[in-house]
Formats: sequence, C-alpha cells, structure tokens
Amino acid sequence: MSKYWSPLTASLEPYVPGEQPKDKRYIKLNTNESPYPPSAKVLEAINGAVNEDLRLYPDPNCEALIEAASAYYGLSPEQTFVGNGSDEILAFAFAAFFDPKKPLMFADITYSFYKVYAKFYGLEPQLISLDDELGIPLDQFHGDGHGGVIIPNPNAPTAELLSLEAIRTLLEQNRDVVVVIDEAYIDFGGESAIALIGDYDNLLVIQTLSKSRALAGLRVGFAFGSPELIDGLNRIKNSFNSYTLDRLALRGAVAALQDEEYFKQITDKVIATRERVAEQLRGLGFRVTNSKANFLFISHDDFAAKDLFLALRERGVLVRYFAQPRIDNYLRVSIGTDDEMDTFLKLTKEMI
Ligand code: PMP
Repeated sequence: MSKYWSPLTASLEPYVPGEQPKDKRYIKLNTNESPYPPSAKVLEAINGAVNEDLRLYPDPNCEALIEAASAYYGLSPEQTFVGNGSDEILAFAFAAFFDPKKPLMFADITYSFYKVYAKFYGLEPQLISLDDELGIPLDQFHGDGHGGVIIPNPNAPTAELLSLEAIRTLLEQNRDVVVVIDEAYIDFGGESAIALIGDYDNLLVIQTLSKSRALAGLRVGFAFGSPELIDGLNRIKNSFNSYTLDRLALRGAVAALQDEEYFKQITDKVIATRERVAEQLRGLGFRVTNSKANFLFISHDDFAAKDLFLALRERGVLVRYFAQPRIDNYLRVSIGTDDEMDTFLKLTKEMI
C-alpha cells in the first residue's frame, strides 16, 4: 500500500501468473505453453522483420494480420480484431461491452483473470457454481438483469468442453447481452463457436496463438464477431494504445497462420500425449476430467494435491496448484513432450 496510489490501485487484487523460473532445468508443466517450438517459418518471418524498418511505427490497423486471420476463418476483416495476446483483448472486451451497473456472469471456477478484470472495470461478478462434475451448468447461465456472460471453452482449469449446440443454447438464452467465448484451448479437440458468428451479433469469440501455435512469447490474440462488436473493440483499442502489436509480432503471426501443416502436427501430438497420460493417471487411481485442452486436471482421493505439487517441484517438475475451495485437491498439469510426461508419471508413481 502506498499513499501515492489511487483508490483504484489500492483496491486491486492482481492476477498472479504461473511461475517462470530462470532455471531451465525445470520441466515446466505449469502455464499451458506448448512444449514444441514455433514453426520454423514463423522464426524465419520474424528474423526477416529484424531490420531498419523497426524505426517506424507498426501498422496501427494491423491490416495484413487481420486479412490473414479473417481469411483463415472465412470471415471478413470487419469481423476480426487482433490484440497483444488474448488477455489484452479480454481487457478491451470487458471495457467495451459490459455495463458496470449490471453484474457480469461467469463460472465460480474459471480463468481467474475474469475476476481481476471485473474488479478493474468496477463490474460485479455474478458467479455460477460448476455442477458436481465440475461442468458448466448451462441452465444457470441466464436470467434478468445481468450485463453479459463470459465462458472459456474448454473451461480453465477444468479442461471440460461445451459442444457447439450448448453454446448455441447459451446464446439463445442471452440474446440481449454480449456473450464472450474464450477459446484459448479450442484447437485441442473442440469445435469453435466462430461457426455461430453469422447467426448471433452478440457473440464474441476470442482466440490466441499462445497455446496451439506455440507462440506464448509473441503475444498475439484474435477476436471474431459482428462488425458492431469489432467496432466497439477498436474504439477501446484506439483510446488506449492504437499500435498494440509490434512489427515482429505482426509478421510472425501471419506466418503462423500460413503453416497449417506444422500446426496440425503439434496439436495432434499434444492430443495423443494427453490421451496416453490421462489413461495412465486413471490407472493410478487419479480422477481426470475429460480434457479437450492442452492440460489435465487431476485429483487423487488418497493424496493431497498440495503435497504432490510441492514434492514434484522439489524433484524439478512444475505443475499448477490452486488454493481455491472445491478444486484445492486438484492439480493442473500442462501437456509436455512424451519424455517430460514420462518423467512426470514416473515421479508421480514413486510418490503415491
Ligand atoms: N484465456 C484463458 C482461458 C487462458 O487460460 C489464457 C492463458 N493464461 C488466456 C486467455 C490468455 O492467453 P494469452 O494472453 O497468452 O493469449
């Protein structure tokens, strides 16, 4: 606390990101990054952009990238927005679409940044409890007087997926407010709600290059929706930081969208590893949610998650533990390479 802080600064409870240790020897299964390198074509494109043009500001309209992203999904540039990672787009969306006089609806167990942004923008959360199986109780996501809905699909950290039909139901139940579907993990087995954009002008779908394209360090995210929603995001963006993406990110992101073969190869690999590790953990007595993401959410009745977390850490494997009611006996384990996961499984077996 400082006497120089504004009341807003003093009231914040900032997000605590997962640990990024300097020691490269850790096996990092704690922040849902890709265990694989970015496409070689991305690195080449970024290297090609390291030149004297860096003295010039980047394109404030991100035209080339917006063209590439909209074409990739069969949308128009007017339906497409790009930002510095999906976290930035989430911040813009909270400011652009949610009325501080009305509560914002989201799950009680979900991406914890939503609570942080809600506080930042003076929005009251209306928390919906996950069902007994840690699934999203769709029938609860409606009502009078709320100012919007935000749901990650798959949810984080539970990894559970909603079907496209379920999302359609959600949209039918919430016709008068903006519904944000955060698809950070959609490429690992889900079906994107982008298919519904033509039918619902209140739907905003947010995606990222951080997970399935192995580019968390580049900070590139997308939003797709009706032109009026995209206009709203641009109003916020241009009132905040009109340049957002830098020259290197703009070039690298276009190249990422063009290398479909590599994208498919690394997502298929992560999915195959996920299924193998989930089965082995179940064999060891773990409860493993039905993950369609690049991580597993696991718990064991006979062992405290926090103890396992600390013991793994001591042995050089970082996973994520959340000290939150109902999930405080769960661990979130990002999918690494097969070798990394074998080490994780071996150490886990030794501890239980
Ligand atoms: N949404 C969800 C559900 C996430 O888990 C994350 C990653 N922490 C993000 C958004 C943000 O991803 P990025 O800013 O790297 O695009």
